[in-house]
Amino acid sequence: METFLYKKIEKTPKINVWMAYPAIESFAMASLGYLSIFKMLDSDSELYTERIYQDTKNTVVPVDYVHAMGFSVSFETDIFNIIKMLKKYGFNIKSKDRSEDEPIVFAGGPVLMSNFKPYEDFFDFISVGEMCCLKPAMEILKRKEEFSRDELLKQLSEVEGIYVPKYPKKTKITRDNLNENIFYTPILSDKSYFKDTFVIEIERGCPKMCNFCMASWLNLPARFVKFEKVKEAIDLGLEYTNKIALLGAYVAGHPEFERIIDYISEKIDDGKQIELSISSLRADWVDDKLISTLVKCGQKTATIALEAGSQRLRDYIKKDLTEEQILNTVKIAQKNGLKGFKIYVMLGLPTETDEDIEELVNLIQKIKNQTKAQGTKFDITVSTSTFVPKPHTPFEFVKREDKKALENKINYLKKSFHKMGVDFRSPSIEWDEIQAILSVTCEDLSDFLIEVCEAGGNLGAFKQLWRKKLKNEKSDNRKGNCASMTNFAKIPFNNIEAPAWEVVDCGSCDLKNKRQKELCF
Ligand code: SF4
Repeated sequence: METFLYKKIEKTPKINVWMAYPAIESFAMASLGYLSIFKMLDSDSELYTERIYQDTKNTVVPVDYVHAMGFSVSFETDIFNIIKMLKKYGFNIKSKDRSEDEPIVFAGGPVLMSNFKPYEDFFDFISVGEMCCLKPAMEILKRKEEFSRDELLKQLSEVEGIYVPKYPKKTKITRDNLNENIFYTPILSDKSYFKDTFVIEIERGCPKMCNFCMASWLNLPARFVKFEKVKEAIDLGLEYTNKIALLGAYVAGHPEFERIIDYISEKIDDGKQIELSISSLRADWVDDKLISTLVKCGQKTATIALEAGSQRLRDYIKKDLTEEQILNTVKIAQKNGLKGFKIYVMLGLPTETDEDIEELVNLIQKIKNQTKAQGTKFDITVSTSTFVPKPHTPFEFVKREDKKALENKINYLKKSFHKMGVDFRSPSIEWDEIQAILSVTCEDLSDFLIEVCEAGGNLGAFKQLWRKKLKNEKSDNRKGNCASMTNFAKIPFNNIEAPAWEVVDCGSCDLKNKRQKELCF
């Protein structure tokens, strides 16, 4: 069942749009970005917009009547499902092969915003800006019948925030005004992965600017939704469901976060049942009220991101967080009734040594000892990923650590945490390698990605075909020296002077260059 939280309007459609999510319906219905774009298109009386998922069986609009097909891209590996979906409906996979009658295929999302180079051949246009740039693009698409495909693409290339691969130009990220247009779940669905959960984006970006963090560097300055607007959204959500989630990279850093929590807490005290979840806590700031409100709302555990175990490494990556703050956060959480913490750590960060790993073990031991001394049961889970360099961040050109060295660290941590009774979630090094290749490559990988997709679109296919690709390209020194995907992932960039992703202007380049100079890159 679906409940629409916005008014449906009468339609006199000029064009039909398929808004696609490159995964199954339950993930699509949990994606605030995807649903927000759908709501925007669906609120335009001149567009007929249909939602399409990887597992869609029948469509309302027949394939021959689709004028445009858009994709919301969240992860690098979504590209395999995009290729499969284009094939499933009989559309040409590459923009240059599409005929006048085929739909205009477009895409957007943080992955493409940061570096669309490996995938650009698939799309007629890419929404580099945030959602606001799609409105003027749709006005152009509405006139699809009046212009040739090429004329449409030329017009689209003039829109701020829109990049047309056929007409390349430096493109600035356009920003949504979150106070004029607050984003919250527009459709509640019992099929959603987060069933009947009303998600409110209370902020976008993060002012902390950790050296590796794309969510921060791509979204400077961070934007916060005013309390009054958040309050209105909470009230609206509570008319339909009791599950509220607050979303953002730095949710607990919202300048009016205390007021938001107070507002929810008062509602609970008045007898309202609310299940609240927030994406992650700030380990440098929690207090009794926040934790007790979370506990009142049924939250049992919370997540904090430490990134690194040693103070030296946290300082180097600019994660502004002391050991005292971490221990204090755990103490407050336990005292106020949380049952455990998931602690998130990144392995293979630049300059990381065995001493840093040892200090991570020591820190977790201190946390464990402290929770034991407090006398109530408190579970600790350490969840890890490996460092992946991201475009537009100060660490964009940093090499990944050797696979063997990473494996040794993971094995050591596994043993150490097992002895302490701490649950340890190890990362998939090979998926992180794929992510690294796709994140910072400066070459068009369309033919390769189509081949991988045809071979199953899985890890094995990627690895095998990448090896073949390297062999065939031995003339390129950089590739010729790499015997495997693992080695290549360590040096994925090929043009530090002019990386492909700098065609996107996210407004933070000077700051990033300054930071890179300080780091001596
Ligand atoms: S505090 Fe978190 S969200 Fe903010 S920059 Fe650092 S890693 Fe990113």
